[in-house]
Amino acid sequence: MDSKPYQLHVLFLPYMAPGHMIPMVDMARLFARRGVKATIISTPLNAPFFSKAVERDGQLGHDISIRIIKFPSAEAGLPEGCENLSSINSWDMHANFLKAMSMIQQPIEQLLEECHPHCLVADMTFTWATEVADKLRIPRLYFNGTSCFAMCVFDSLLRYEPHRRVDSDFEPFILPGLPDQIKTTRQQLPEYLKQTTEHEFTKMVNQISESEVRSYGVLVNSFHELEPAYSEHYRKVMGRKAWHIGPLSLCNRNIEDKAERGNTASIGKHECLRWLDLKKPNSVLYICFGSLLDFPAAQLREIALALEASGQNFIWVVRKGELRNHEDKEEWLPEGFERRMEGKGLIIMGWAPQVLILDHKAVGGFMTHCGWNSTLEAVTAGVPLVTWPLYAEQFDNEKLITDVLKIGIGVGALEWSRYAKKILVRKDDIEKAIVQLMVGEEAEEIRNRARELQEMARNAMEEGGSSYSDLTALLEELRALETSKRESAVH
Ligand code: UDP
Repeated sequence: MDSKPYQLHVLFLPYMAPGHMIPMVDMARLFARRGVKATIISTPLNAPFFSKAVERDGQLGHDISIRIIKFPSAEAGLPEGCENLSSINSWDMHANFLKAMSMIQQPIEQLLEECHPHCLVADMTFTWATEVADKLRIPRLYFNGTSCFAMCVFDSLLRYEPHRRVDSDFEPFILPGLPDQIKTTRQQLPEYLKQTTEHEFTKMVNQISESEVRSYGVLVNSFHELEPAYSEHYRKVMGRKAWHIGPLSLCNRNIEDKAERGNTASIGKHECLRWLDLKKPNSVLYICFGSLLDFPAAQLREIALALEASGQNFIWVVRKGELRNHEDKEEWLPEGFERRMEGKGLIIMGWAPQVLILDHKAVGGFMTHCGWNSTLEAVTAGVPLVTWPLYAEQFDNEKLITDVLKIGIGVGALEWSRYAKKILVRKDDIEKAIVQLMVGEEAEEIRNRARELQEMARNAMEEGGSSYSDLTALLEELRALETSKRESAVH
């Protein structure tokens, strides 16, 4: 028997999109803190987004490193330097991006053979990862990046196809088989689900589901207490082997980690904190719609008008793409807005240090697109939400926030849309939701519920907490698997 002591080596393969890469990097760092050798595979232009955090962890003695592979942008028909989904702005480009993803299978296989890890954690988008891990006889763990709730909703749609039995896009229907009575409309579903002819992404969605089912198990960035009925449903009804190991953002403990997470922030951490320090507790609304979507000027203008009318302090993140599309501020900002809002509102143009902001006691609300990371970061900070879902599984997350957890108020977004133009949400609806969330008795009740969840989230990650214990169980299982492999190799 090979009785030499060995260190568990896990290879992490994150998708090149901030909302997938950020939590998987946190995950790798978490594994390394628990004594695992963690290797993250990335590309030349993606690695700099997290290399400093990895370096800092290395200096603390954690065994974590990055391996770089080339990203075939030009070969896949993408512009030079396009290595991240945040630079994609059409379905055609998106398809080329996926082509590039399939082209890196071979170099990744080579790298895997070279380092022969004991386990591969791969994002859902690497549909070939389970097969590649099988060849090496190592377990592949699947990471989807969303809630159990959303995975259960998706399963209900695929299994029962309730959306095929309604007459219009606006008619509400119940999602069968779920622990709660959750309603949706066809208008809130992704294009690739509601089309009758096969959408180019339908094939990929099927491949993703297949690789999830065939994988060794699923890592979920959530904690059991947040969605107990859905975590049970996912395991028992859908039959998945799953470990809840989040909220992963909690692995960012110091100011540097929080301020530099995911990208270089467009505002200095001290400047940002100084601004927040001057505000009363729970008096600031933070507004950010994630890392991918650019609003048209008309929508930005409605937001500006609503912010001013609401009378609340705010930090509003406007993405670089939005600024590029509307260089002239007058296109999207009402005349004199910045002057009138001086001291009351702060606009961050580019990338915000989101976790640093949410964790500040002055922040009392978060207007969000309901991306799962943003949702969970708000829960972790005890911050209630104004929900404004746009695409992906964000409408599902909204239902979890408003109908199940009751820690948010919706602006009334109706339509799923990724690259096409969206129906505008009007100033009055935005303002109403903001005021309802920030002021009054109902706001206080919502805030109290959010605070309770915050405590649960933090406890889950402490030693003995549910997520801590789930990770312990997983690591023990992986070690046992490797040990028995070594033993059987000798006999
Ligand atoms: N984020 C950030 N600063 C920004 C925009 C986004 O730190 O200015 C982070 C945010 O904290 C979250 C991630 O980017 O971790 C976005 O993920 P999410 O799932 O919320 O949305 P997506 O961008 O995938 O739509």
